[in-house]
Amino acid sequence: MKNFIFFLAFLLLFSTSQDIFSSKRVVIENVTLIDAGNPIREEMTVIIDGDEIVSINKSNIGTTALLDDDVVVDGRDKFVIPGLWDAHVHLTFIPELDYETAYGLFLMNGITSIRDTGAILKKLKPAIAFAKKNPLKTPRLFYSGPLLDGTPSVYKGTEPGYPELSVEINEDTNLTALVNNLIEQEVSFLKTYEMLSEEIFINLLKISEEKNLKVTGHIPLGIDFFKAVDNGLDGMQHIRNLELACTKDSTEGLSKRLLLLENIESIPGSALRSKIHQAQRYSSIEDFDEDRCMKVIEHLVVNNVFQTPTLTINTVGSKRFFANEQWQETYKFLPNVVKNRWLKDSKSMAQQPLNDSYKTYQDWSMKMVGLFNKQGVKILAGTDTPIGFLTPGFSLHKELELLVESGLTPLQALRAATITPAEFFNLEDKMGTVEVGKFADLVILNNNPLNDIKHTQDIHAVILKGRIQ
Ligand SMILES: [Zn+2]
Repeated sequence: MKNFIFFLAFLLLFSTSQDIFSSKRVVIENVTLIDAGNPIREEMTVIIDGDEIVSINKSNIGTTALLDDDVVVDGRDKFVIPGLWDAHVHLTFIPELDYETAYGLFLMNGITSIRDTGAILKKLKPAIAFAKKNPLKTPRLFYSGPLLDGTPSVYKGTEPGYPELSVEINEDTNLTALVNNLIEQEVSFLKTYEMLSEEIFINLLKISEEKNLKVTGHIPLGIDFFKAVDNGLDGMQHIRNLELACTKDSTEGLSKRLLLLENIESIPGSALRSKIHQAQRYSSIEDFDEDRCMKVIEHLVVNNVFQTPTLTINTVGSKRFFANEQWQETYKFLPNVVKNRWLKDSKSMAQQPLNDSYKTYQDWSMKMVGLFNKQGVKILAGTDTPIGFLTPGFSLHKELELLVESGLTPLQALRAATITPAEFFNLEDKMGTVEVGKFADLVILNNNPLNDIKHTQDIHAVILKGRIQ
């Protein structure tokens, strides 16, 4: 009985303090504001009420009327940036890496919005339900639902390393019914995958345009880049399949691909895709044609096709973050079974000899990002976590470093993790900068990220939906 009363008292205390806390305003004083939409603003006071930034003014003592229960944060020598995005995550990729752990790691690292770019909705459902029930413990969650793939699909769930992430679409699939069903399940966009046929891919783009739903994805292996973009593709992941588009002989390369896609040996989708990439990726990179590539990039700019290069996953083979002891330290936040497996696998993989082709792919990926940036392609920061030992949250900061290494300024890298993902979802009025009327997602840093992008890792506090984490 005693225990029960104690439990009740605890419950009461806990729920009361939570309610009071969430209704308090947060006031950050004397802080420097940095975002990619405004000049640097020094000595500012930011007031947050609920999930909204309600006022931003020069900090002159006496001019800001504080309320008794305001939570006041001393922002002297500190820097406020907008909450960050990881625009390419897979919450269900490793079943033992549960969504609660992942959400916690994102928030701890200042990532207040995530875009899940491929998950079977049946498996993602608990993560969605938790997010709805616990908004203050969950980054803003955007999801595509399954990879929309052709036959044979890549992520079928039958080969090791390829969990079930996709639906397999063929000529008999009712595409309108499929898209309507996804809309009913509140997906925020669609993700197309590599095995789709040209016809189905184009039909999917048409239907989603009618439904006002954006489509991002890997350009299917069997379609020409220009055709894919001209039919309304809104975004691309991993710079995938641009290597072929950027060669002189891309038409011939595509014909060869179509032959391979006939799959006369009937091998699984995952193996078929690898076989095609192996056959064409590195020879295409070798045949890189700058003039043609500039036309490709120009086409991305003119058609407003967003790029999520995911440099962390594209360079993981050569940069081997997993071999670094400091990186391995981040595994301690993962569930034990994942931590132990990652440690073991990281160590054994670090022993293997480096394959030259990884470095080739790294150099090409980073060169492409540099060109995108110069020409004004919209770039989103995304990582593909938790694939490749990329710990949720921590990997986004790696991505920011790699974007800077590819030629972006730190401010441009910040844009890629703030304003641009918001733009992809037409949410730039509510997110992406530190301005009155925007959602109250902020990160307070101890050091200026414009001096060194690594300073995004030096976090003083994270504010999600108006609440200090
Ligand atoms: Zn992915």
